[in-house]
Amino acid sequence: MRRIGILGGMSAASTQIYYRELCNLTRDRLGGLHSPELLIRSLDFARIEALQMKGEWGAAGTILNNEAKALQRGGAELIMLATNTMHKLAGQMMAGVTIPMVHIADATAQAIKKANLKSPGLMATAFTMEESFYTDRLVAAGLAPVLPNSDDRATTHRIIYEELCKDIKTRESEVAYVAIAERLVKAGADSLILGCTEVGMLLRQDKVPVPVFDTTLVHCATALDEAFK
Ligand code: GLU
Repeated sequence: MRRIGILGGMSAASTQIYYRELCNLTRDRLGGLHSPELLIRSLDFARIEALQMKGEWGAAGTILNNEAKALQRGGAELIMLATNTMHKLAGQMMAGVTIPMVHIADATAQAIKKANLKSPGLMATAFTMEESFYTDRLVAAGLAPVLPNSDDRATTHRIIYEELCKDIKTRESEVAYVAIAERLVKAGADSLILGCTEVGMLLRQDKVPVPVFDTTLVHCATALDEAFK
């Protein structure tokens, strides 16, 4: 198994899910006492979020690039960036890094296509929903993403930053997320992308009437497949 480097902490709430999921998948696959070969670099999300809010993406990209290089120097053989939003900076992050990256949007697009679905609803941060760096990759894979209306985008974004990234889960926000998912299905979504690595803390398959693709779980499964190649 190749050693996976996880660039995480964005937020720490979802990096914990990555660790648990990769451990579970490895145990399912190999049995016994097996666990994955991992390096986890967990950043202070307050520092990253401040750069996001100020629009200082170049500075954030420099941090990711330095950390990706450090993961490679530390022995990582493939790399996962454990956040959808920061994939906006995937190109800058990977400059001068020679180990492969498992791209979260590509992994998700492939999983949806494999299920013969075409029009995924997308619940994510405003950056991921409203800029093109993420939806362009879905479209390039032949998918037609469906976005929430502007109020629903604002609510989805707010709950991510004010609650989920702080490991806070409330019944009220769960109800709001279920309603947003239902409106996406009414608007034509045949599936739902949990396009932020924390959204699965509130929304799961049993709450949504179409197939759900939790990017955190899809990312882990794809990375593990790659690690075992
Ligand atoms: N983890 C989130 C994502 O998947 C949001 C936090 C961030 O901005 O990195 O987009």
